Order: sequence, then C-alpha cells, then structure tokens
Amino acid sequence: MVKICTRCFVVWAGGFRCEDCGGPLVHTDDAAAHGMPEAVWRNQRLDYGARRGMIFRFLAIFAGLTVALLGVRWSVPQPSPWSFVGAAGSIAVGVALWRLMYVAADRGVKIWILRSGQLQKGKLARALLSQAVTPSKRS
Ligand SMILES: [Zn+2]
Repeated sequence: MVKICTRCFVVWAGGFRCEDCGGPLVHTDDAAAHGMPEAVWRNQRLDYGARRGMIFRFLAIFAGLTVALLGVRWSVPQPSPWSFVGAAGSIAVGVALWRLMYVAADRGVKIWILRSGQLQKGKLARALLSQAVTPSKRS
C-alpha cells in the first residue's frame, strides 16, 4: 500500500496523515493522485525506495536484537560485575546498531532514490555516516 501526500507529494508506506506536513494522504492509484503534477510521478521511484527502506528497518531491528541477545547470553556466565557490564553493553551496542541502520535506511531512501545518478557512492556513504553521528532533527 503506497500513499501520497496531497499537499507536499511525499510518498508514504501507509497511514492517513503526512508525517512531514500533516496533509491528507491518498492512494497513489486514486483519481486525486492522477490529477497531480508530472513531477510527482518522478517521485514514484520512492515507492520502491520506501518499501526497501522498510525491509531494511526490519532487518535493523533483528540485527540489533541479535547482537544484544548474543551479548547478554555471553555475559551472563561471566563473574559478577562483568556479567552486568557485559549485558548492559550488549544492549547498548544492539540499540546503537539498530539506530545506525535505521537512520541509514531513512537517509538512503531520500538521497539514493531521489537523486540517483547525481550522487557518487562515496558522497552517499559520507552523508549516511554524518547523519548517523548527528541525529536528524525530527518533529
Ligand atoms: Zn505532506
């Protein structure tokens, strides 16, 4: 299910309100969507990007969870102070990994799909990393 904002034409993977501007969302195959300007349809590449981004976000959650759980499992048999330190550290690393992948997915969809061809891979990687280090301002 792909929906598009009637106000700012951002494509979303569902929902009723645009998360960017609060405008109402319509299905991309709605009559209302077909009355939208040509530029909107170039953004349709975002359909696939958004879907790939969502899959990647699921992967990110599983990757983070796996790292955290393996770390905790490894930590428990350790001697007393280290079991707690290890468990807490593993969870922190898991959350950090998830966060990094999540931000990268978000960022990657916007940069990669919208400006594909205009951006070199190195620049993309740098943009992803700088974004991961300084979290984006989200409303
Ligand atoms: Zn909007």
